[in-house]
Amino acid sequence: MLVLVINSGSSSLKYQVRDVAAGSVLTEGLIEKIGMGNGGDGDGEIEGPRDHAEALEQVDAAIHAELGDLELGAVGHRVVHGGERFAEPVLIDNEITRAIERLNPLAPLHNPANVLGIRAITKKWPDLPQVAVFDTAFHRSLPEHAWRYAVPDSLYTNHGIRRYGFHGTSHEYVTHRAAALLDLPVDEFDGVIAHLGNGASVTAIRGGKSVDTSMGFTPLEGLVMGTRSGDLDPSILVFLGRSGWTPEDIDTMLNRESGLKGLAGNNDMRSVVNASEAGDAKASMALAVTSYRLAKYIGGYHVAVGGAKALVFTAGIGENSHQFRALVADKLGALGIALDAGLNSQRSKEPRVISTPGSAIPVLVVPTDEEQAIAEATAAVVRPAG
Ligand code: ADP
Repeated sequence: MLVLVINSGSSSLKYQVRDVAAGSVLTEGLIEKIGMGNGGDGDGEIEGPRDHAEALEQVDAAIHAELGDLELGAVGHRVVHGGERFAEPVLIDNEITRAIERLNPLAPLHNPANVLGIRAITKKWPDLPQVAVFDTAFHRSLPEHAWRYAVPDSLYTNHGIRRYGFHGTSHEYVTHRAAALLDLPVDEFDGVIAHLGNGASVTAIRGGKSVDTSMGFTPLEGLVMGTRSGDLDPSILVFLGRSGWTPEDIDTMLNRESGLKGLAGNNDMRSVVNASEAGDAKASMALAVTSYRLAKYIGGYHVAVGGAKALVFTAGIGENSHQFRALVADKLGALGIALDAGLNSQRSKEPRVISTPGSAIPVLVVPTDEEQAIAEATAAVVRPAG
């Protein structure tokens, strides 16, 4: 089955056409500046489609220019927030679209854009099945003691303030591949998965299910990321508010100016590692903070899963930065973890073991592929329906 995978943002739309069985990408692209232009009718200064419907026309034209006539079996949407309702990918109908829309307050930047993408496709291809695959769904298995914040219950009951977790599609996909690499049935896999991209989160997996994860109510909680702070004392925000910072100021500072960027002046791990190796003290400090914070989570999640059977690195940094993996592993001696320096520094696109035979548990690198996971989940939902 050919699946069009859509990741719809407020001003951009990423797409891929996937052959699910072959696991291949037939074509892919990115439409940017949505809502900023005049749709190419020549009387405006800025390029870009007027809205998501026009962006979709561009996607359609690009796919046909590249691949000719082809029969799509379904569309799979990456939807950021599934709230407490969605624990699985679902076939989209009008009621589901409205349910996703009702979650807008929980993900004000993302869910409205996801809904625009869904509605644009419903209008253009009303008979094409669409499936929503939620970033939060894999974490619906979190036990209450892991998802609760210790604040008055009314914040949860009236506002849905609890931990949801994100990157679920990636954590689930990597869980399955890691279990396969270790020759374990997935429901016997206990481990810790570190998804380290621009956004970063770590998940505790017990019996193949997520039992804790570092992102919370929003993707800001947890690890030090490219431009996000991760965990901090919430009183800092109260302090800043009393000092005259607006909610928007605080939001921008925490989400766009913090993390590696705040500490080292650069949000790109490669640049920070290079700067550190060239003697930049701030870059070295940023790496120390970032790796220490991750190591603490790994230690905690080792306990949460009752003894991990593996530690798994994935996403841009996890798959590519042997220097960062080594910094983290160096702090995990108490767990008996030891990397093989040679295996760690080998570059490969394959799932692999990078620890020594004597390491108490294996350390793996498992490349993630969220689009393939979305395409597979979409095909699995659509197929039984015919
Ligand atoms: P996103 O969350 O945007 O999908 P990615 O998973 O692509 O992010 O990860 C981006 C991060 O991966 C950046 O910090 C980048 O520096 C890092 N990265 C990518 N390639 C390498 C590499 N070869 N060595 C070190 N870091 C890398």
